[in-house]
Amino acid sequence: MDPRELSSIVGSDHVLVDAEVCRSYEVDWTGRFGGPSLAVVRPATAAEVAAIVSWCRARGVPMVAQGGNTGLVGGGVPARRGPAPLVLSTRRLSSIGDLDDVSGQITVGAGVTLGALQDHLRASSWEFGVDLGARDAATIGGMMATNAGGTRVLRYGSMRANVVGMQFVGSDATVSEHLGGLLKDNTGYDLTGLCCGSEGTLGVITAVRLRLVPAWPDRIAVAVSCRDWDDAVHLGRLLRSQVDGLDGLEAIDAAGARLASEQLGLAVLLPGAAVTLFVLWAGRGEVVDTLVNLVADRQHVVGPPGSILASRERQSEAIARTGIAHKFDVTLPLGRLAAFVEEVRRQLDGHCVHVFGHLGDGNLHVNVVGPAPDDDRVDHAVLGLVASHGGSISAEHGIGRAKARWLALSRGPAEVSMMRALKAALDPQGIMNPGVLLAEPPDPATPTGLDAAGPL
Ligand code: FAD
Repeated sequence: MDPRELSSIVGSDHVLVDAEVCRSYEVDWTGRFGGPSLAVVRPATAAEVAAIVSWCRARGVPMVAQGGNTGLVGGGVPARRGPAPLVLSTRRLSSIGDLDDVSGQITVGAGVTLGALQDHLRASSWEFGVDLGARDAATIGGMMATNAGGTRVLRYGSMRANVVGMQFVGSDATVSEHLGGLLKDNTGYDLTGLCCGSEGTLGVITAVRLRLVPAWPDRIAVAVSCRDWDDAVHLGRLLRSQVDGLDGLEAIDAAGARLASEQLGLAVLLPGAAVTLFVLWAGRGEVVDTLVNLVADRQHVVGPPGSILASRERQSEAIARTGIAHKFDVTLPLGRLAAFVEEVRRQLDGHCVHVFGHLGDGNLHVNVVGPAPDDDRVDHAVLGLVASHGGSISAEHGIGRAKARWLALSRGPAEVSMMRALKAALDPQGIMNPGVLLAEPPDPATPTGLDAAGPL
């Protein structure tokens, strides 16, 4: 089969077959995941996406939807082994509709980056409630497909809470659309909600209707010194109960602050802090005083979020400079978070372990540099530990290829079989991102796949 046939749909400039050109679409941001593609195709409309899906379907060619390729679980790139899929890049689905100022909503193409949306809204009295460090490359479609979280989940929730409709191309090549943006609309299954976190396994999101939040006039960040993770969790609790307008609570430890300084030249804001808690606030003037008074007896620095948060936001970048990391984005019950950090460090003693995260919602990022990319033993150890503390193995990045074998640590057998039934109903040929989210082939003998990884 010749992918150049797709030129009749998108034009020859948008069917990439040259190995050099395709490479950046075939390897993920971490460098840990990736494999060869059949070709990369770049449609500009939903009709073109549908025609491409039809072409794949007729030939049984698997497809991987890809937005900004900033995903961290290998879900947006081909698998290392198996039939080479077509990579469908959504970046040309980049139209931004008119701002609906009355409802505070906007419809954008799936390939619009978060940064482009933020720039577009800057002159208005609205902004988008989800924000994350990869804003200049991550696309709205990719963020919806991963149900992305970020730094403001505490206040506004993750993508699922901020998406009110979508245009979608299913595996049968039909285009469906529900972009009216009605907040109350109980007309059956929530298909838009279902696609949040579907990771490209059900079809291709081509446009998204977003609800917006007020663009507050005042916005600050406060970096506060904490004695340890437990102290940071308790300070977070106090602030959540006393301060109106908290956008988020982020944290790094002393090693993370040092790393950002060594690798990126960023200043260590609080040299004495074992853990630095970053408090993000937006609103109107006077509440700031309440916030600053609550941390007055601790070493702290107040400033604009962009500069105060830099060492936290750029942790992934700093770590990536030291090697290929095994990355775990996990949620713990807040009461278990400090004990988990202690135990993960104890179990991985001798490894290079970095811990930082979105403390407000119990989301920690554990990064381990050193083990070979395909050595799963560290994944097995960390994810098992998360489950034993009552946590989730994915807080925000999704399951992807990285964690498909461990899905059963967080979802029961009945839930997994319901997910498989949905997948089979909506993608009976299994051409949409096979091997992502739901490991394949399902192995009834070892449903969790856990026995496959040996001890550390
Ligand atoms: P991709 O990486 O291209 O794809 C991700 C998944 O979505 C894949 O499974 C892909 O098949 C699927 N997909 C993409 N587009 C579509 C579509 N149109 N239709 C159907 N499926 C699609 N994530 C967070 O949640 N919070 C953070 O704070 C955060 N910070 C980050 C910081 C850095 C420095 C980096 C590199 C990443 C960070 N991420 C974070 C991870 C990443 O940015 C998010 O997962 C983001 O949502 C991915 O968007 P993308 O467009 O790059 O998607």
